[in-house]
Amino acid sequence: MQLQQDLHLHTHCSCDSACAQIDAIVKGCQAAGIKHFGISDHLHTKFNMPDIEIARKEFLEYGPVPGFHFGIEVSCATQWECEKIAKRDYASCFTCEVNGKKFQTMTPIDGIMYGGPANGPLMVDLTQEDIDRLGIEYVIGGVHKPNYTEQTIPTMIDDYFNQHCYLVKHELVDVLAHPWDGLGFWSGYNIVTHDPADYRVDAFEKIPQEYWDELAHLLLTHNKLAELNFGTICSRRFEGKIARYTIEKLAEWRDKGVKFTYGSDLHGAKYPLDGEVTIYDAMKCLTEYGFTEADFALPPRLK
Ligand SMILES: [Zn+2]
Ligand SMILES: [Zn+2]
Repeated sequence: MQLQQDLHLHTHCSCDSACAQIDAIVKGCQAAGIKHFGISDHLHTKFNMPDIEIARKEFLEYGPVPGFHFGIEVSCATQWECEKIAKRDYASCFTCEVNGKKFQTMTPIDGIMYGGPANGPLMVDLTQEDIDRLGIEYVIGGVHKPNYTEQTIPTMIDDYFNQHCYLVKHELVDVLAHPWDGLGFWSGYNIVTHDPADYRVDAFEKIPQEYWDELAHLLLTHNKLAELNFGTICSRRFEGKIARYTIEKLAEWRDKGVKFTYGSDLHGAKYPLDGEVTIYDAMKCLTEYGFTEADFALPPRLK
């Protein structure tokens, strides 16, 4: 199979380690024969909006390219943190105690990671007005941190499930990004201990089948797409165990009729055409699991 799209590409404007210039993305995707490709920098909360504004400016300055799109990757945030960020009341988040260890951050760049009420109301800090003003063509929504729940396997599975359901039902979200990605990391306190044993690779196989089934049902009834994310399906961590588990489950979703987008989640400086792992590895892997071009679709505004 030939992947015709890559809708999850971060530019150097993204708030994280991403560093690609737009020109490198356009030329790399064209060289790989991708018909539809789009940039999708992070918006965890409104705190990151200046990054999106700069990305939009660079996108417009680059000029129109056939098949080149402007998207966004939003996080499932919490009402608590969005309200605090709107009031610029976040000094308390800079240093806090997490499971008996000191957690420090310089800014709320990733949202407010700790200190909120467990399982409180969720929020996507983006409005239809933002979408119109910035010409956002599609919205990818992902889970990037806990909703202040305890970081154990059962609590984190429930937390992820709840956030996934919220994102799929959200009227502004078109694509569910990298389902269950990061579950192993957040199911322990690796963030403060840096102990490999606190990365709970065993969390994935504990996700109840009814959670997978319910998410497939929600994706279908809400007409939403799920993402096949390169970082998840081609991951070689833990001998590829997480990747195999995830792609098997996403193949089950496919058999129920769920449609997908593909996203490389590029953070590097250029689109990888050669090197250790590339879009060609993704195509090989997707073919092995029986995916075909017919399993992919584009978000509504790209059609
Ligand atoms: Zn993500
Ligand atoms: Zn991403």
